[in-house]
Amino acid sequence: MDPKPSDISELDFFTRQVLEPKGFAFMWVYKPLCPDCKNSRLKKLKKRDKVYTCESCKKTFEKGDYGELLVYNIEYTCPKCGKQGTDSGKWKKPTSKTSTVMQKFECKNCGEKLKVSRMSKKKK
Ligand SMILES: [Zn+2]
Ligand SMILES: [Zn+2]
Repeated sequence: MDPKPSDISELDFFTRQVLEPKGFAFMWVYKPLCPDCKNSRLKKLKKRDKVYTCESCKKTFEKGDYGELLVYNIEYTCPKCGKQGTDSGKWKKPTSKTSTVMQKFECKNCGEKLKVSRMSKKKK
């Protein structure tokens, strides 16, 4: 489990959302630390770059290799039992932009199957 982010520029993805009817989930995924030098987080230096670069050792990583390094962290309040918990693991980033589920997980207390969705800007 990674610490809660203080700087969202270090994140590859994050979302906060309500789990209907009364739950809540906060999910965050850090840009991975360079597996070689562990000094910098990998990022695209320019938006159109196809590879991710470590600013410390200048090593570059293909998208697939970068994807292998991603770890998700979820802090949640279960909508069924109301207990709080956390979950983390290797994150398989959805490849499709239309995929609505970012990560599935289970409440560690009651076993309820939960998911973090891609946020859509729907009206209340
Ligand atoms: Zn490095
Ligand atoms: Zn539960």
